Amino acid sequence: MSTYKLLWLGFGAMALVLMATLLPQVAQVRSVQQQVQVLSSGDAVRSASASDLAINTMGYALALREHLDSGNALARQVAAQRAEAVRHNLDAYMARATTAAQREHAARFEADWRALEAGGRRLLGSAQRPPAPAELLDFDNRRRALQTLLDERLQPDARASLEARQNTALAALRTNLALALLLMVLGIFTAGLTGLLVGRRIVATGRQLDANTEALRVTLASIGDAVISTGLDGRVVSLNPVAQTLTGWSQADALGQPLDRVFRIVDEDSREAAQNPALRALQERQVVGLPHATLLIARDGIERAVDDSAAPILSSDGEAIGAVLVFRDITSRRLQEQRVLANERRMSELIDLLPCAVFTTDEQGRLRHFNSAAVAFSGEVPQLGSDCWYRQWTLYRADGTPLPAAENPLAMVLEQGSAPRGMELVLRRPDGTHLWFVAYPTPRFDDAGQRSGVLHMLLDITERKEADAALRLSELRYRRLFESAKDGILVLDAKSERITDANPAISDLLGYPPSQLVGKALWQIGLFATEEAGRAAVAQLQRERYVRFDDLPLRTRDGRSLDVEFVSNVYGLAPNLVIQCSVRDISERKRSTEALHELNRRKNEFLAMLAHELRNPLAPIRVGLEVIRRAGGDAGALQAATETVDRQVTHLVRLVDDLLDMSRIDRGTIELRRERIDLVATLGMAIEAARPQCDKLQHRFTVTLPEHPIPVDADATRLVQVLGNLLGNACKFTPPGGHIELSVEVDPAQSGMGDEAVIRVRDSGIGIAPDQLSRIFEMFVQVDSSLERSAGGLGIGLTLVKTLVERHGGSVQAASTGAGGGSVFTVRLPVLAADTHAAAEPAPAEPAPGARPRRILVVDDNRDAAESLTLLLQLSGHLTQAAFDGFEALEALPAFQPDTVLLDIGLPRLNGYEVARRLRQAPGGERILLIALTGWGQEEDRQRTREAGFDVHLVKPVDPAALSRLLESSAMP
Ligand code: ADP
Repeated sequence: MSTYKLLWLGFGAMALVLMATLLPQVAQVRSVQQQVQVLSSGDAVRSASASDLAINTMGYALALREHLDSGNALARQVAAQRAEAVRHNLDAYMARATTAAQREHAARFEADWRALEAGGRRLLGSAQRPPAPAELLDFDNRRRALQTLLDERLQPDARASLEARQNTALAALRTNLALALLLMVLGIFTAGLTGLLVGRRIVATGRQLDANTEALRVTLASIGDAVISTGLDGRVVSLNPVAQTLTGWSQADALGQPLDRVFRIVDEDSREAAQNPALRALQERQVVGLPHATLLIARDGIERAVDDSAAPILSSDGEAIGAVLVFRDITSRRLQEQRVLANERRMSELIDLLPCAVFTTDEQGRLRHFNSAAVAFSGEVPQLGSDCWYRQWTLYRADGTPLPAAENPLAMVLEQGSAPRGMELVLRRPDGTHLWFVAYPTPRFDDAGQRSGVLHMLLDITERKEADAALRLSELRYRRLFESAKDGILVLDAKSERITDANPAISDLLGYPPSQLVGKALWQIGLFATEEAGRAAVAQLQRERYVRFDDLPLRTRDGRSLDVEFVSNVYGLAPNLVIQCSVRDISERKRSTEALHELNRRKNEFLAMLAHELRNPLAPIRVGLEVIRRAGGDAGALQAATETVDRQVTHLVRLVDDLLDMSRIDRGTIELRRERIDLVATLGMAIEAARPQCDKLQHRFTVTLPEHPIPVDADATRLVQVLGNLLGNACKFTPPGGHIELSVEVDPAQSGMGDEAVIRVRDSGIGIAPDQLSRIFEMFVQVDSSLERSAGGLGIGLTLVKTLVERHGGSVQAASTGAGGGSVFTVRLPVLAADTHAAAEPAPAEPAPGARPRRILVVDDNRDAAESLTLLLQLSGHLTQAAFDGFEALEALPAFQPDTVLLDIGLPRLNGYEVARRLRQAPGGERILLIALTGWGQEEDRQRTREAGFDVHLVKPVDPAALSRLLESSAMP
């Protein structure tokens, strides 16, 4: 316990003792005083009452006498009042009588008063005016007796009692006053002592207080914060130097000023006056912080950002006696904060601009920031502050397996402070799409080096991945193409000019396994004739980036020579240049090109031959015609010439037929009209046709035919043509007087095959060289094509034979022992199964109707053809007319009324089909025998003429005999 308090305790105790002793004394004095007072007042009253009794008794007596004497009513009234007062005084006296004597005196007075009063009433009631003197005397005596009693007893008694009592009281008062005085002295002494002690203490305390105040002043002066204190009225009591600096107010100026004036603050953003915290602290009796972002406007107008708090100053009994405001200049801190904020904003903007997903979390993993790319990346808009956003994501490893949480780098960096960077992962987004990305989780540190959160950077590599996959696929495709290409492909490094890759095709072509090709130069693998040629080619390639050799010799590993097309170019395959060579084996193509050239050559030869062959019959025809013109009546010459002309024309017709057939073979449109026929009988026709030529050349012609018919499914005309060609060749290529043999036999069925008819044409002629045997069936091939030695042919006969036989399902072969050894041509044809039904006998020919003249219209734009035909028909006895185009023909109808029309198809203006249709519609047109004359004899051509309304289709040139037969056999309309 402090001395100060002990002192106060001692002082208190002593005061109590003094009070304890002084109080009874005071009480005593008080009681004496009261006693004296009471007694004095009682005695005084009594004394006063005695006096009053005397006065009032006297007054009563005098007023009554006055009334009795003068009859004054007022006097009587006064007498009554005095009587009343006497009674009152007597009551008062008696009430304060303390002694027996007093009470006795009072009783005597009362009795005497009553007697007086009764005497008074009697006087007043007396009928005599004035009353009898006796009564008056009695009354006066009684009054005097009362006066005497008063003067001698009552009044002295009252006075003596009063004096005695006053004396007693004064003695007691004196005693008590002495005691009180003593105590007072004692108290003054004690108080003086205590005051001395307390005074010393107060001085000490004052000094201490001064020291404390000084210390506080120094403290306030030296602390960095500004401090302003105010009184309860909000006026400034003090402000320390920092506060003076910040407010711009000196202590002297500020003292007593309202705090609002000295400490002017506004909201930083709104510039509105901010509520003063000290005043609020005063009102609310609690610590109040400054509103955020507050600007202090100093007296000189300078503004500073300030921050701190205000608190009420409370007295020891808890009463607010003022407020203290502590603040500090945070301008630089605010600037720093603003800089940090600006930095953060810039960083946010930067992050937003980044093309990759970026988001940051605090140390607890709560989302602090994310950019728009992160939203696009994740496919969702996250909640700021949400915990570990990435936990909701479905992640996979690069190999497609689910990513365990323990391996998730986004979680690892938070939990362990570090995580692998650059890990490739796959995210499955809410919409089900997948996204490839690389994660770069990076821990962040604050200025103190403490971990403050994580920055996650996620790079979307989906496009790259897809491109990689596409590239791989493309590479795979190209690899497959490379592997499966028919052309050889070589890839070389352009710098070293050595092979780096080779495909199987080039490997097969050259005969080297790919491994042996790699590392070699182009000229080391059989390409290019010499090393110089190879080096020159590569140098050219390097220079021009492209070379092409249409025909390059290539020697394979096993020594074969091939022809190749070589194309090479140089292209950039970062970072190197690459040479790619394409090598195509053109040996086959070269061969077919050569074959084509050969064919072309042969065609040219054929054309020359054709001209020659066509011209040959023309000379005898012209000569024959001249003979006919000049023969006159020489029937023999006329006959010979006519036969020559006929033969030559027949030859010409055959040539043209062959030409047509050649074209059909070429176009593949040769047609067969197959039916079941007897091969033996059919061959008989060919034999008969050939016989004259054999005879002419004096060949011996031996024919060996089977006895029985051989049924075949064949076109008889074409079979005759085949055999005619073979027999014709045998005759042609056998010197006169040779031997021609024809044999036909049936070769029994081989396994899986039917019977075959074997037709052999053997001659003893010039024979065929072995190397020509396979060629002679080709178009235009003639073993000796010199015009001089030509045996008269176009080189298409055997091609026709081969084609026709093969179209019949058969085959033809040539055999010869060589020059001069003769030749054998063997034709094999499938034989039909023997028919149980007897072959239908050919229908007997209709008896030729009698030759009747016809009215025949011949229509042909070739005037010579038309006119010669009309002439021929006239010679046969028919009536004829010629027309040279379609319209002319139709116009001729009404006048001429033909029954037969020979109509060319290829007519100008109106073609034959159209003429036929119109003709059929003309009156009587339906009965006309309409015969088509055309160069086209295919089935489709015949079909077309049928559809146009023709009855008969004849192919030019018309055989006059056949035409005659037709005209004779056709019914007349
Ligand atoms: P052409 O007889 O019109 O010349 P072919 O196609 O019929 O045409 O015959 C082609 C060639 O085959 C003939 O030019 C001839 O050199 C040769 N040849 C055909 N038949 C015989 C044969 N019986 N004997 C020798 N050579 C033949």
